[in-house]
Amino acid sequence: MTKHSGYVAGAWIGEAVTDRITVRNPATGAPLGDIPRLGAAETRRAIEAAAAALSEESSLDQRRTWLETIAEMLLKRRDALAATITAEQGKPTRESLAEVDYSAGFFRYFATELHHLEDRTLPGEIRSCRWVVRHRPAGVVGLIAPWNFPLAMLCKKLSAALAAGCAVVAKPAELTPLSAIALFEILHELRLPAGLVNLVMGDAPAIGQVMCEDARVRIVSFTGSTDVGRRLSVQAAPHLKRLSLELGGNAPFIVLRDADLQRAAEALMTNKFRAAGQTCVCANRIYVAREVVGAFVELLRPRVESLVVGNGALPTTDIGPLINKAAFAKVMRQVRHAMSLGATRVVGSDAVPPEHDWGCFFPPTLLQGVRAEMEICQQETFGPVIAISAFDDEESVLKEANATEYGLAAYLFTNDPQKARRYAARLHCGHVGINTGQGPTPEAPFGGVKHSGFGREGGVEGLLEFTETQTSATAS
Ligand code: ADP
Repeated sequence: MTKHSGYVAGAWIGEAVTDRITVRNPATGAPLGDIPRLGAAETRRAIEAAAAALSEESSLDQRRTWLETIAEMLLKRRDALAATITAEQGKPTRESLAEVDYSAGFFRYFATELHHLEDRTLPGEIRSCRWVVRHRPAGVVGLIAPWNFPLAMLCKKLSAALAAGCAVVAKPAELTPLSAIALFEILHELRLPAGLVNLVMGDAPAIGQVMCEDARVRIVSFTGSTDVGRRLSVQAAPHLKRLSLELGGNAPFIVLRDADLQRAAEALMTNKFRAAGQTCVCANRIYVAREVVGAFVELLRPRVESLVVGNGALPTTDIGPLINKAAFAKVMRQVRHAMSLGATRVVGSDAVPPEHDWGCFFPPTLLQGVRAEMEICQQETFGPVIAISAFDDEESVLKEANATEYGLAAYLFTNDPQKARRYAARLHCGHVGINTGQGPTPEAPFGGVKHSGFGREGGVEGLLEFTETQTSATAS
């Protein structure tokens, strides 16, 4: 296990810090190493280094080379990075490999889109001036990432920030910092200008507070819980600081009577069980037309029963552990609450298999007869549980689907393109999958509405998120 952890002004920091946080493998509970509890002082140093690195603006060609090289290096270390992701996050190796590819995809994508940052001269002479619109780097940006995609969530933000010409202070989740450290080892080898990229970790509230309060940080880009997002909003408000928040979700997955049920079942299995159900775009509330709900459950039953739960490092594993015991307890509470109010458990059990004594392996579960008042509908589940409700008509299902403070993703299955358009227009969310459970991709903007946050990642919108528009008028 590597000793270094933080990275400031082109050098590793934190080796000598004695107050340390143990990082554990969620499959076994085994310690993987420890990280220093860095805080406000180190964050200020990182911001200072980042601000200094911005004294010279990088050219678009320079940025393109950095982005392309980072993508190549990520792919060169694909297996080692995937092993680190699986060890600290728990997901099966094939998902970790896909996460490395996805991460590299963001760097590659932004390398091809830098022309959007070129100066735009307005045609003709306006008010006796020549007008030019420039997309300037926003400045120093703070990036705070969660534990469910320990590499990809950071790469999404970092790629766009570097493409836009910003300098970065990044903070991974303390539960999964090792992938971020591995990423910074690559950045270190690349010899980027000192201070352009910095890494801090440890005391999350202290680090977040400095990012919000220090005037040199122009944007804080955060992915995580709605509670922390709200807290950052409050802290940033007096400083009029721009925020980009990708927060929780509670995605409806609607299957209409005319849908291809087989296709919907396959899409749901892939979407729902990715990262053991711990993604913000995982389908959370499954609404199926009453006429076909029985048939749909029967399509799902054997598929859920056949899922292999285990250590993500084993090639046979479909579903790894939840991130920790608290996550396990929360999901079990939601399942029990639903059952106490009348839901039927079609697949699943209370028992934790004895060989999995660390206690984070949640049995894949299929619930039927779920209703809006159950916790499992009201909260984000973040676990491998399919919760099915039957619905009777368009109005009632759309009303229920939208009856949540969240608005990140929604999915709709129907063979009628007109209905698809009509439903999609009425769903309050940032991402709609039609006859697919597909989540975000580097090429398309992704983000939420309502309490799922604001701002976009990916796509040209995700690049412009890290810029300031400057307009210059030159007298002719
Ligand atoms: P989750 O519930 O998915 O763990 P969190 O919102 O707690 O999500 O964590 C997402 C990220 O936010 C992590 O990097 C975590 O360390 C960080 N974080 C937690 N609390 C704060 C805070 N008060 N200020 C800034 N970042 C925080």
